[in-house]
Amino acid sequence: MGFFDKIFGKKEKESLDQGLQKTKENFFSKITKAIAGKSTVDEEVLDNLEEALVGADVGIETTVKIIERIEARVAKDKYLNTTELNGLLQQEIENILVDAPSSNSYDFHSELPSRPYIILIVGVNGVGKTTTIGKLAYNFKKAGKSVLLGAADTFRAAAVDQITIWSERAGVPIVKQPMGSDPAAVAFDTVQSAVSKNVDVVLIDTAGRLQAHLTEELSKIKRVIQKVIPEAPHEVLLVLDGSTGQNALEQAKHFTAATDVTALAITKLDGTAKGGVVLAIANQFKIPVKFIGMGEKMEDLLVFDKHEFVDSLFSLEDKPT
Ligand code: GDP
Ligand code: GDP
Ligand code: MG
Repeated sequence: MGFFDKIFGKKEKESLDQGLQKTKENFFSKITKAIAGKSTVDEEVLDNLEEALVGADVGIETTVKIIERIEARVAKDKYLNTTELNGLLQQEIENILVDAPSSNSYDFHSELPSRPYIILIVGVNGVGKTTTIGKLAYNFKKAGKSVLLGAADTFRAAAVDQITIWSERAGVPIVKQPMGSDPAAVAFDTVQSAVSKNVDVVLIDTAGRLQAHLTEELSKIKRVIQKVIPEAPHEVLLVLDGSTGQNALEQAKHFTAATDVTALAITKLDGTAKGGVVLAIANQFKIPVKFIGMGEKMEDLLVFDKHEFVDSLFSLEDKPT
């Protein structure tokens, strides 16, 4: 449909290549060690490879799947040599991602399935929710859509100020109330205002609390939004911090149990060696990875593209950072 031709241009590809640099170094130094001194792929090479993948934050479940697939190929093609292993690994990792769920078809440019399109952003404190909202607002606005932010993280003093700064940066309006207000009331006002102003996209921030009240708090926000638009929120976007590796997997388990998450954003992939976790997350959850965060600026959000991700992960060209 030509979407990625437009969106995934040269700039985006460079950002992905650069951001994944440390993950790549980690990944390949471990794989290189796994096959050092070996000419053919045998049990020992596969054991070492398994260890290397787990060490590169790919996660045990996903690693086992990859190893099993490679084993099956080795069994068929007895004299597989170690130089062929890289290509095989790339193929199997790509297969893992291709089998992972794909996102339903909205992007910054295409027409959204409903107006206003309500996106609720959830995740623990510090993972990058508010920053991701700022980036999404910027991208939607740049694509010609009207955007409204809802500051429903009323828990921390700085939270409302922070999202206000992002609204100014992106040049989009915001609905807010004083700190300590009922988050559901802010969400209600935001959605009501979006309906009356015929806004295209609504991005609602939430407080990142990992506690017993999580389900309750989020369902209250949803219930109140549904008073205005029965089928909203149209998207519940869970933000995960990729630099926390396996912790991000744990958070994903917690949140998907607490509420109906429909899409994932993985942040802070720039400057971390733990980017392998994207493979684990994509493989383990039946929820599509939709966005990846590659830095702190407005421009540093990429639509997740499975093929481009694997391509950058395996590209041997070392670009200067
Ligand atoms: P929240 O508590 O979930 O709302 O998280 P914030 O949006 O406040 O972000 C927490 C910190 O992470 C801030 O310092 C952000 O600048 C930083 N951050 C968010 N996304 C990214 C990213 O993709 N890359 C990097 N390097 N930093 C990020
Ligand atoms: P409850 O607090 O569990 O009874 O949940 P409600 O469904 O009554 O609403 C939760 C919050 O959303 C309330 O505290 C209100 O601030 C807000 N809210 C709900 N309905 C309305 C409404 O019709 N108008 C306004 N302005 N706010 C509402
Ligand atoms: Mg925040």
